[in-house]
Amino acid sequence: MTDLYSEHHALALDAADPLPTLRDEFLLPRHGGAEQAYFCGNSLGLQPRGARAHVEEVLDKWAHEAVEGHFTGQAQWMPYHQLVREPLARLVGAQPSEVVAMNSLTANLHLMMVSFYRPTRERPAILIEAGAFPSDRHAVASQIGFHGFDPATDLIELEPDLPGGTYSMAAIEAAIAEHGQRLALVLWPGIQYRSGQAFDLRAIARLAQAQGAVCGFDLAHAVGNIELALHDSGVDFAVWCHYKYLNAGPGAVAGCFVHERHARSERPRFAGWWGHEAATRFRMGPQFVPTPGAEGWQLSNPPILGLAPLRASLDLFDRVGMPALRAKSLRLTGYLEALIRGRLSETLQIATPDDPAQRGCQLSLRVVGGRERGRALFDHLAANGVLGDWREPDVIRISPAPLYNTHADVLRFAQTVERWATA
Ligand SMILES: *Cc1c(COP(=O)(O)O)cnc(C)c1O
Repeated sequence: MTDLYSEHHALALDAADPLPTLRDEFLLPRHGGAEQAYFCGNSLGLQPRGARAHVEEVLDKWAHEAVEGHFTGQAQWMPYHQLVREPLARLVGAQPSEVVAMNSLTANLHLMMVSFYRPTRERPAILIEAGAFPSDRHAVASQIGFHGFDPATDLIELEPDLPGGTYSMAAIEAAIAEHGQRLALVLWPGIQYRSGQAFDLRAIARLAQAQGAVCGFDLAHAVGNIELALHDSGVDFAVWCHYKYLNAGPGAVAGCFVHERHARSERPRFAGWWGHEAATRFRMGPQFVPTPGAEGWQLSNPPILGLAPLRASLDLFDRVGMPALRAKSLRLTGYLEALIRGRLSETLQIATPDDPAQRGCQLSLRVVGGRERGRALFDHLAANGVLGDWREPDVIRISPAPLYNTHADVLRFAQTVERWATA
């Protein structure tokens, strides 16, 4: 029988993998002379080697062309955001006019809610998952308050019904049915950041919309991780950031999707000159005429330096394609799961669903024995060059990113845990 835990086996899996690793396209942090086993792509993706050239291109253009850089030569700044539009549309399964790179995630969530959360006395409520990412919770609670409603009654936080803090589709369906007449908006994660559970966007959107609510998604942990079909799923809007699995660097410009059916929406919006139709923007008239589609929600001319690294990363996603990347992700995370179930289950309990269709690359691992033991294990991993991330009170998240993580990395994690547990 093959020994799952042998280095020979892990290296053979890497050598035989149908998608050879693109690790050489990234800069890996080092630890004690060796490359780190970096499993934090869910927090900050690694730097693509190509990022520097795109940033330097902007700096050089600025140095040599100054204001003319907006309109002359390669990669002009005026239409710069369009350089990423089509690759982003491919990545999330949207039409190019449905996506835009702008602002940051939480800012985009607010802008989307300005248009798509329109509470009335009869229908004031927002449904989110309990334990949502704090920024999302702050955003929805503050929007509810901004409209003169009360988060105590109008923010509905659905508790998980399954062990590991995960949800059955039946529970989501029941909650949407129960609160249906009061729901203005259902805001759900594509992948929940703490549990790693992936959701069926289309099913949730249909349930919400059947009740007369709008349905939006936060895809911070889903984009670049699982295959998305935003257009076909029918979701009204979605927002995400680009510094996690998209590897565009700290604080990178974020992403936003607005479904085609809202392309010429007359809903209220917070407007800015960059959302005005491009053909007449520079007539500098007083009247706001929105660009049809997602670009009509732009406010400002974009931070070009914050967009530049994203081009390098999207080149890699385009080279591989999400289907092949996701297939590799299933192999890597499947291997991680097998190693844990085989010999580490007295140390680590997997909180993420077993069903690969209900997760991305991340496994959330509850350390048996509680917080103190968990911290000790986490520190031991870090001291040995294995970097996951820690979530209170007792969870280590390990996210093998298929662009740069390997089976050998995954084995190194398991070996480091096992040596600690048996010491
Ligand atoms: C990472 C993340 C954020 C971060 O928000 P920023 O506006 O980019 O700082 C917000 N929500 C979720 C769900 C996240 O995973």
